[in-house]
Parts: sequence; C-alpha cells; structure tokens
Amino acid sequence: MNKWVYLFKEGNADMRNLLGGKGANLAEMTNLGLPVPQGFTITTEACTQYYEDGREINDEIKAQIDEHIIKMEEITGKKFGDKQNPLLVSVRSGARASMPGMMDTILNLGLNEDVVNTIADLSKNPRWAWDCYRRFIQMYSDVVMEVGKKYFEELIDQMKEKRGVKQDVELTADDLKELAGQFKAEYKDKIGADFPDDPKEQLYGAIKAVFRSWDNPRANVYRRDNDIPYSWGTAVNVQSMAFGNMGDDCGTGVAFTRDPATGNKGLFGEFLTNAQGEDVVAGVRTPMPIAQMAEQFPEAYADFVKVCDVLEKHYRDMQDMEFTVENGKLYMLQCRNGKRTAQAALKIACDLVDEGMRTEEEAVAMIDPRNLDTLLHPQFDAAALKKAQPIGKGLGASPGAACGKIVFTAEDAEAWANRGEKVVLVRLETSPEDITGMKSAQGILTVRGGMTSHAAVVARGMGKCCVSGCGEIAMDEENKKFTLAGKTFHEGDFISIDGTTGNIYDGLIPTVDATIAGEFGRIMAWADKYRRLRVRTNADTPTDAKKARELGAEGIGLCRTEHMFFEEDRIAAFREMICADTAEAREKALDKILPYQQSDFKALYEALEGNPVTIRFLDPPLHEFVPHEEAEQKKLADALGKSLDEVKAIVEGLKEFNPMMGHRGCRLAVTYPEIAKMQTKAVIRAAIEVQKEHADWNVKPEIMIPLVGDIKELKYVKKFVVETADAEIEAAGVKLEYEVGTMIEIPRAALTADEIAKEADFFCFGTNDLTQMTFGFSRDDAGKFLDAYYDAKIFENDPFAKLDQDGVGKLMETALKLGKPENPKLHCGICGEHGGDPTSVEFCNKIGLDYVSCSPFRVPIARLAAAQAAIAQKA
Ligand code: PEP
Ligand code: MG
Repeated sequence: MNKWVYLFKEGNADMRNLLGGKGANLAEMTNLGLPVPQGFTITTEACTQYYEDGREINDEIKAQIDEHIIKMEEITGKKFGDKQNPLLVSVRSGARASMPGMMDTILNLGLNEDVVNTIADLSKNPRWAWDCYRRFIQMYSDVVMEVGKKYFEELIDQMKEKRGVKQDVELTADDLKELAGQFKAEYKDKIGADFPDDPKEQLYGAIKAVFRSWDNPRANVYRRDNDIPYSWGTAVNVQSMAFGNMGDDCGTGVAFTRDPATGNKGLFGEFLTNAQGEDVVAGVRTPMPIAQMAEQFPEAYADFVKVCDVLEKHYRDMQDMEFTVENGKLYMLQCRNGKRTAQAALKIACDLVDEGMRTEEEAVAMIDPRNLDTLLHPQFDAAALKKAQPIGKGLGASPGAACGKIVFTAEDAEAWANRGEKVVLVRLETSPEDITGMKSAQGILTVRGGMTSHAAVVARGMGKCCVSGCGEIAMDEENKKFTLAGKTFHEGDFISIDGTTGNIYDGLIPTVDATIAGEFGRIMAWADKYRRLRVRTNADTPTDAKKARELGAEGIGLCRTEHMFFEEDRIAAFREMICADTAEAREKALDKILPYQQSDFKALYEALEGNPVTIRFLDPPLHEFVPHEEAEQKKLADALGKSLDEVKAIVEGLKEFNPMMGHRGCRLAVTYPEIAKMQTKAVIRAAIEVQKEHADWNVKPEIMIPLVGDIKELKYVKKFVVETADAEIEAAGVKLEYEVGTMIEIPRAALTADEIAKEADFFCFGTNDLTQMTFGFSRDDAGKFLDAYYDAKIFENDPFAKLDQDGVGKLMETALKLGKPENPKLHCGICGEHGGDPTSVEFCNKIGLDYVSCSPFRVPIARLAAAQAAIAQKA
C-alpha cells in the first residue's frame, strides 16, 4: 500500500518531491527540535491521484488522513470539536517549488458554534474567538465554496457603519458574533446548504480546495513562467494552529535572514501585533519592521534570532520564515530558501562562498538564470535621476527602474501592453489574480503592503520593479485616479518608480543600460570556468554585436543578412533587383548592394575582434521586401521606369499561400545564384580587409546556407559560393580560411544529416523553423491557439520558447548522431530562440552541441545556464 500521509516527524528536507517544499521543511524543522506546531502532510502523489481519480480523494487516502487526524490529536493533546481542548488547524498548499500566493490556504479550521464558545471561555477572550470564526467562515466560503469575498466584506462594512466605527478591530465580540451569523446566512443563501459544523467535513472540503487550486488559472500562469511541470502536484499541510490574533502579546511575522532586495546580511522582515499571517501577506495593514519586535516581545525575538541562525547554517542559504507569537511564545510555521531579486541572489551567492558555506560551483547553481534579465535591462540615468525630485516614497520592494503610463487594473495593464504601451500598474493592494497584469507592466506601485506583501514577493520573483506601501497616495481606484503630493494623476499619465529606493517621480525619467560588474562579474567568471558550451550571439548590427561582446558573447552564431536590406538606402536597390527582368539587370542592382553588405560585414568582424562570425545568406521570401501600398508601388514603378501595373503584377506574382514554406532560404539561392554570389563576395572581401588591418586576429568567416532539406541543394549552392570565394581570395593574393555550413531547420535535413555532413563544415540548428516544421505549426500564428492548448493541458509551454525535447530535440540528437561520424570536424550549434532559454540550453549541453547562440541580452543567461548544466552533469 502506498503511504499518502506523513506526520511532520516522519519526513525530512530531502523528501521535497513527495512532501512539497513546505512539508519537507516543516519536517526538517521538527527534526531540528524547533518549535513547530505539529501536524501532517498529504503528499504530492495524493494530489496527482486526486486528479487521476476524477478530482476525488479515494478511500485509501481518506483512511490514511483519518488515521493521521487521530495521531495528530494524540501528539497535540487536542481534539477536533472537543469541549475542553479543541483542535484547530491551518490547511496550506505546498508544491515542490514554492509558488507564493498562487494556491489556497485556510486558517482556523475546526470551528463551529460550540467550539467558539469553548475557546471563548478558555481564553477569556470572546472577541478573539468570534473573530476567528467569522474569518474562518469567510475564508472557507471563498476558498472552498468559491462564494466571492466581496459579499462578506460588504457585510463587514455595513456592520462598521452601523456601529459608527472605522477599523475592524473596533468591532466588539457581540458585533463579530452577529457578523458570523450573517456570514452563515449568506453562505446558505449562496450555496443552498448550511455551513458545515463538522470539523472533518470542513477538513475534507479544505484539502480538496487545495488540490483543486493546483489547477487554478493563476497557478497555471505562474508554473508556465517558472518551468514548474503540471505533473508535480501540490502537497497539503495540515498544521495545528498557533494564534497570533489572541491579544497584544500575540502577533505574526515574516522574515528573511538576509535582505531579499539587496542581499545584505542581517535579519529583515516585518511583524504585526495581534494578527494572523494572511494579514501580513495580503498587505491589508502595514506592519512594523522586525527589529521593533525586540522591544515588544523580547523573549520570542531572542528565540527567533537563534532559530534564524540555526536554519541559515543548516540550509546554507538565505531563509524566508513565517512565524507566530502566541501569548509571548514563538512558533515556526514555515521556512524556505527565500525568493530574492537578481541583485540579492548574486550578492548572497558570493557572500556564502566568502563565508565558507558554499563552493563556487554551488554558488553558480544557486542563481536562477532567468532572473539575470532584470540586471541587464535599463536603470534610471544617474544624472537625470539626480535632477529629478521624488514626489513620494514607498518601500523599494523589487529593484529596477520603471516608467510608463499609469493604469489601475491588471486587465488594463495587459490590454495596454498588448498594444505596445509601457505601463505602470498602480493598485491599492495587489491580489494573486493580478499576476498577468503585473507581468505586462513595467513596474508596480501599491498603496498598501509591506516588503513581504503579495505584490512585493511576486514582483521579486518576476524580476519586476515594484514600489509598495506608499501610504501617501490617496487612491480612487473606481474613478481611475489618485492624488500624490497635491497632484491628481489619471489613467495614461506618466510616472516613474525606482524599485531600489522606493522613490516615485512625476513624468518619465530616461534610463540607461546596465553593466556586468561586481558580484555579477564574479558569478559570471565562475560560470565561464565551469561551462563547456560556448555562447555566441544572434546579431545583425555592429551595435548589437558590441553589446553582446560586452555581455560575454564569444562569437556571432547568426547574422540575419536580410535585416541589412531594409535600411532606406538599400531597399531601393534590393527592390530593383527583385523587379529585374534579366540576370544581368539583377546583377547590376546587386552590384549597388555589394558595398553596403561589405561594410556591414566588416563592421561585424571588427566588433567581434577575430572571434567567429556566422553569416547566414538571404532567407525570407522576396514578397517581404516589396511595397504593398499603392503609393509606394507607384514610386517604385517611377524609379524603375516601369508602369504601376507591371510593378503590381510583380508583387502579385510573389504572393504565396504558405510563405514560410515557400520560395525562401536556399531556394532563393538556387533560383537566383547571383544573390548568393554577391553575398559571398561581400563576406570574403570584408574578411580580407579586416584580416589585413588586424594581423593578430583570426578572421575566418562562416557562411551559412539556410533551409536546406536535401544534400543536393547544399551541394548546388555551395559550389558557386566556393568558386566565388576562392576567386576573390586568389584575386586578392592572400590566405584566408572560410567555412560553408548549413542550418538544420527542416526535419528532412536532420534525418539525412549523414549525407549533409559530408558537405557541411558546420550545422546550426534553426529551431524556430525546425519547431514550426516538426509540429506543422505556423511560428507566426500559433499564438492564436496555444492558450487553448494550455487550458486543455495538451501543452504546458510554448514550444517556440522552450525546446520540445521529445520531438524537435530528438531530431537534433539524430542529426548529431548521423552527422558527426561522417565529418569529425563538424561543429554544431543552435541559433533559434531556444538558444537563450535555460532548460533548452541544458538540453543542448546534454546532447553535445558546441555552442548556443542567442540575442545579446540573453548571453549572460545562456552562460550561466550552460555552467549549471555542466555542473549538474558532473554531479
Ligand atoms: C530558425 O529558424 O531557428 C532561425 C534561427 O532562423 P530564422 O528565425 O531567421 O528563420
Ligand atoms: Mg529559420
């Protein structure tokens, strides 16, 4: 029989896959002898089983849960529904990878009228007892039965109005009792049944709700963004309650052993007196800094400081902890390796090495490569920032600079961003439903909430700039406006926020590019030491190439030459070439383009300083280069001495039903060899020039033929490329080496790679097209139906962003296995978008590619991912 349920004392930190992160760490803390309210964990496998059983908890699992309720009652000395010592529990989700705020939690479970009266008597604190009950009804109705929160909030507001008070805490025990009655009536009205009194029935409802929340839309979005497989499932933790809301000698807190925004060492966090955990995380009240806790709760604080030290040394990483103080005594509710900004991640990793806690390799493995993105993106221009006067200040909750137009809802953020606007999402407080809007925004500004509020935690995880808890803002969300520093801001007004300092500025402040220095530089140097894969860049301009070099690119893996044709002075000549009636006329037009291409390539070689440069020959269908507006067509006709109708006929003739499977790639070179010849001349002449000027560089161009599907195509094109190149070299009387290789982006090429390798000096996997052709999905249109695929669980990720290892990856492996033995000198890389995606990079390392090539800003991500892959492979 499978074991589906574990007491905390039966588990440990290594059982994370089974018990989830929270469950494994509760077990570990229990083993370390820390003060943990005891309970049990229902495994992630039980969650998967629940889905397999058609969203039902089967009898075997139920029997084990029942058994563990009894064991828990024995351990705690409390009993569900008991008149002397009733057991109350929290029910919390906990997946293998932490997904803060994405799934459901229920507190104070086990309450009914009898139990409320019991705990009211026992504690001599009826106000607390009734507050717990009304919270429980509210939470249970919302989370388990999906009755909207707003109905209950309305009832609270009505009660406050009736009593003439402003704050919840001003309501009396009798008020809260009356509210609980109203809540139950509301529940019955909405659900058509009485609110459950039986703690066990409540518990099963809650467990199912947590399992179900694994599949809620925000969890699905979060998982897709964080590469967390759907198949993992979530565990459920049932833990005896500790009460932070029993009075002024109680409270609840969240703290980190190091600052999650900067990485600085030292206890960092927040504490709320007389409150439950949800109050801190939801950001409804702004809590006090943790240090202040020392004054009000000296003993619990001293204990907590000791616990922090134990946990950090034990896990050898920054810890994020949730705890409660009940009548002056500390209880640990959770610990985990804390989420942190990219900046903090780098500092903490370096500090842990310096403190002798971690090796360099471990430090490299600790950084999430995707987070580096935030460091590479612009920061405020220092000079402009100096001159700017902040109009307000919140907490610097997640660093970076953001500026854009103000929007007030997550939906607006998404809609505006989709139409190309940069927006800053301004909210009273954020809730987990806002996740897609937060993703679309440049930054997030909230009125309420501390450093550990949902907005702050999620923004840090996303690497998104966030300023939280700016209480100076007078918010009017309904009318989409707010007032700050005497000025009223409306939707669409510009604002700038600094997620490091928390400063808020009126208008737009210019931003500048970031650099790799300090701890970033140290980590990257370690990454370079441990990786095997080389990292190149996809760059078409010298500016991009230089940026990529700064970021550590070791070559150009793909220069898409067609991008050079679109510039104004060249497009005319290119159109002349397309419209030419004879090969001679075409050549004449191409002669005009040649010098441009030559100088472009020269600048690229110069930017790369002797490192390899792969130049891919013309690839897109010609239709993309001709004008489609009549006025433009008329201009072209006049320039070429043709009639408008003639030009229209040419444009019409270039139209294709499936342009991506049409007259493009090497097919262009087959029909118009003159184009490839011109490009060859430009490549070789530029190389000769640069080699002459820089004798110490090894300029060795790599000519790449796109979209080859048959060896004969490559042979045919290569023949005149080689003839042209050799003639150029001979005419110049120099020695110059060059290579001719091919992209592997058609399944047939991969399947016949043994043949192709005989003619190719290198393979470069064009996984954009290879994905398109393997799935038969249009790379330009797949977005239209991918959402439906995610919803139906057919796909978990966009195969154009994250390499499909089972299908496309298999073709890549096949191509390598077939190709390498035929040509031992063959070098192989990837230049599709996947070249900068960490899990895809890991796959490329595994199958033995020589390099990955990605856009300049992803170069550091790829370097780090390559190192992590190598380190993991070694282990
Ligand atoms: C590819 O297909 O993966 C590729 C790199 O080429 P392009 O995106 O230019 O088609
Ligand atoms: Mg391609």
